[in-house]
This record gives sequence, C-alpha cells and structure tokens, in this order.
Amino acid sequence: MDVIEPATEQVLETVATTDPGELDAIVARARAAQREWHAAAPRDRAQALRRIADGLEAELDELARLEARNVGMPIGDARFCVQSAADTFRYCSAGPERLLGETIPVAGGVDMTFREPIGVVGLITPWNFPLMIESWKVAPALAAGNGVVLKPSELTPLTAHALARIGAAAGLPDGLFTVIHGEGPTVGRALVDHPGIGKIGFTGSTAVGKDIARRAAEKIARVTLELGGKSASVVFADADLRAAADGLRGAVFGNSGQDCCARSRVFVQRPAVEEFLGLLDEVVAGTVVGDPLDEATHMGPLISAKQRDRVRGYVDGAPVRTTGSAPDGPGYWFAPTVLHPIADDHPAAREEIFGPVVSVLPFDTEDEAVTRANDSVYGLAGSIWTGDAQRSLRVARRIDAGALAVNSYSGVRVHTPFGGFKQSGTGRELGPHAVESYTEVKNVFFSTGT
Ligand code: NAD
Repeated sequence: MDVIEPATEQVLETVATTDPGELDAIVARARAAQREWHAAAPRDRAQALRRIADGLEAELDELARLEARNVGMPIGDARFCVQSAADTFRYCSAGPERLLGETIPVAGGVDMTFREPIGVVGLITPWNFPLMIESWKVAPALAAGNGVVLKPSELTPLTAHALARIGAAAGLPDGLFTVIHGEGPTVGRALVDHPGIGKIGFTGSTAVGKDIARRAAEKIARVTLELGGKSASVVFADADLRAAADGLRGAVFGNSGQDCCARSRVFVQRPAVEEFLGLLDEVVAGTVVGDPLDEATHMGPLISAKQRDRVRGYVDGAPVRTTGSAPDGPGYWFAPTVLHPIADDHPAAREEIFGPVVSVLPFDTEDEAVTRANDSVYGLAGSIWTGDAQRSLRVARRIDAGALAVNSYSGVRVHTPFGGFKQSGTGRELGPHAVESYTEVKNVFFSTGT
C-alpha cells in the first residue's frame, strides 16, 4: 500500500496490508495478552499508559513532522495533535486505579458491581487527525483492561505504526495492541465481523458508520460511532464580530476543512451580515495556504485528488463570494472559499463537504436561527456568538448538538465528553466516562447466609 504525501503527490512510504485471514491469529494473541494485562496490578497498567504518554512526548517533533507530511496539516497543528494524544494517554492512565464498582446492600447479602473489560476491541479511524483520534480510543480501551486491534485509515497509517512501537517499548504485553492495515471494505469489514471482537470504536463517515452498525448488530457487538457533521455557528448582531470571523480560520479552514466539527454553516443576524462578510473576506485573504512544514502556513492541501474533486463538485456552480489563494503545481490544493448568498437547502449548505468551504446564511430572529441550525441530519458541534449571556445559554440549550461553545469555536478537550446527536453518532469519547465506555457492568450477588 503506497502512502502518498498530499502536498507533493509523492510516495511517502509503503506499508504492508494485512490479509484478513491473519485476523484469527491476531485476535487470539490479543485475547491471551488481554488476560495477562487485566490480571496485572492496576498500578502497573497505569504506569504503562503513562510511559506511552512519555514516549509520545519524547518523539513529539518527529511524530508531528510525520503527521504533517502524511495528512498535509500545518506543522503547528500536528504538534498540538501529538501533544493531545499524549495528554489522552495520561488522562486515561488514571482509569485502571479508579474503575470503581458499587455495592448495594440487599436482604441476605450484598450486590456488587464490577467494571469488566469487554475483551478484544476493534478500532477503526479516519485520516483527518490520525494519531489524536486513535489515542481517544486506544488509551481508554487499554485502560479498561482490553486487548486492541486498530485499523487506521489506509491513507494515513504511519503514526499508528509509531504508536504500536511506543506501546511495546512502554511494556504492553506482546500482542495486546496490534495495528492492521488495509482498505475499509476488506480489512475494516473483516475486523467488524470477527467473532472475537466485542466492541467497535469507529470514527469516520456517516455512511460507513451505518454499515458498521448494521454488521455489528449481527453479533450484538457494542459500538461507539463518531460520524460526520455540518455544524452551525450562530452569530448575533451584538457579538464580537471580529472574533467570530477571525476564529473561522481555525474553525472552518483549519485542517483544510477536513474536520468533523467544522462550523461550515454560519448563521449571521441580518444587521451584521455585511460587516461580518467584510471581516471574513479579510480572514480569507490572510490565510496562508502552502507547505505544511512551513511554520507560517495556516492551511495545507486536501488529503487526496478524490477529496479535491469532491470539494470542487460542491463549489462548481455554487454562489461563491470570496476565494483565497492556493499554490499551483503538485499537491491537492484548494483555496478557502466563502459561499453567499446561498439557500439553506443548497447541497453545499446542507451536506458535509470536508473542505475549506463555508456558507454564510442571514437570519432575523433567535427562534428562526435555532430552527434552521437544527434543520440537519447531523448534530455534532456548534457555536453561539453574542454579547447577551442569557441568550447564549438559552440558545445553546436548544441546539441539538453534542459539543457547543459560547463565544468560542472550541470543540474537543481531553477532559470533556465528545460526540454527536442524530446522525453524527452514538456514544461519547473522552471525558470522565471514556474508560467506562470500554467496559461491561457485571453484578455479583454475595450471600451473607441470612
Ligand atoms: P471513512 O468512513 O471513509 O473511513 C474511516 C475509516 O473506516 C477508514 O479507516 C476506512 O478504511 C474504514 N472503512 C471504510 N469503509 C469501511 C467499512 N465498510 N467497514 C469498516 N471500515 C471501513 O471516513 P474518512 O473519509 O476517513 O473520514 C472522513 C469522515 O470522518 C467525515 O465524514 C468526518 O466527519 C468523519 N469524522 C468524524 C469525527 C467525529 O469525531 N465525529 C472525527 C473525524 C472524522
């Protein structure tokens, strides 16, 4: 499998694909190692996870470089992602020593609950933030005492490989954590279908999430699905318009728009529309698109030619107000683009584009903004910008999305539950319950003989 560098279109590395026939042996090894892992003292498991965090930090610069080249994300963002992966391992390292059960006194004895590991879990991840999203799953799954088989995206498998190496060096039992490689319809499906896999943790498109949910249902495997989005930002006329516009450089053009939380629908209250559009034009003009390894770059290329064609398909024929600049020559470049005026039901304003394209949509009243923001099959993230504190929380409570921010575009934090409403997914990652989501609750009745 050739791994392509999107900024150059050159082969970065070649990776061996996994034959689905190998899965029986991989899962059996993971199961055997999992018994050893679960039997180890919680303190020892916690220390191994902390050593993984240390290992990631020790290689932070090299890993960030690799991620930046493989994904095409700016080097500063890649450093943030590697640090965030390390933070996730450290956060989850508290898990093994704090997976508490409950006792319930009953007549004739006591009921006790235990949080048991599921066994071996299959994790399937996308290409947009590879190492970071992998850590959201691998860290809690290991912390809960599971074995792990991870299939990273075939487009960005390189840092997953490094994570497995760092895990082995940190003292994980042999075979406990294995990375497999290949395409979704072959290797991914084989992992989902494998009878030894008790849970699938998936991040990716809604279409694939539905396929996984259907297949997992055949064996009642547990699933966590983190899927697509078409998140809204609601900007009231009394907001700090400059902050709301400036923030979109990260919130919709960040990672070239290949971000499930991208605020790609921006509802702006009518009296502020012209001023906001002028500010957004300045943001677009000042967005530096180019070499991901250059510290001055804000935005790199898209991941592939296929993705660029897809994004172009949405923009061709759409009402483009502003386009920024992007390099010519090799690389899957796409300039930041503002669409306006555009109808809510235009495909570019409704569907997830996964590119640096934002629709600006005027509104009049608070009620109308809420109704239109909620008129989506998705419900992942969103923002409310206003100077009115009461209104900000009122609107946040009415928007059907899992990760909202007031006067900010913040989306994901290690200590905060993250996930979507509606077709943006099911289950939550990160936050205080991340480790529990990789456990089964077991109840044991203990008779006291009376
Ligand atoms: P994708 O669904 O095409 O692929 C994701 C992963 O699933 C890859 O590893 C792929 O090989 C595998 N896969 C594909 N078909 C499969 C199948 N039938 N069975 C099992 N595995 C299969 O997604 P992508 O293009 O890599 O990523 C983009 C999508 O991911 C976007 O829709 C984006 O919104 C979503 N995403 C969501 C979140 C979130 O947390 N909600 C985060 C990042 C990305």
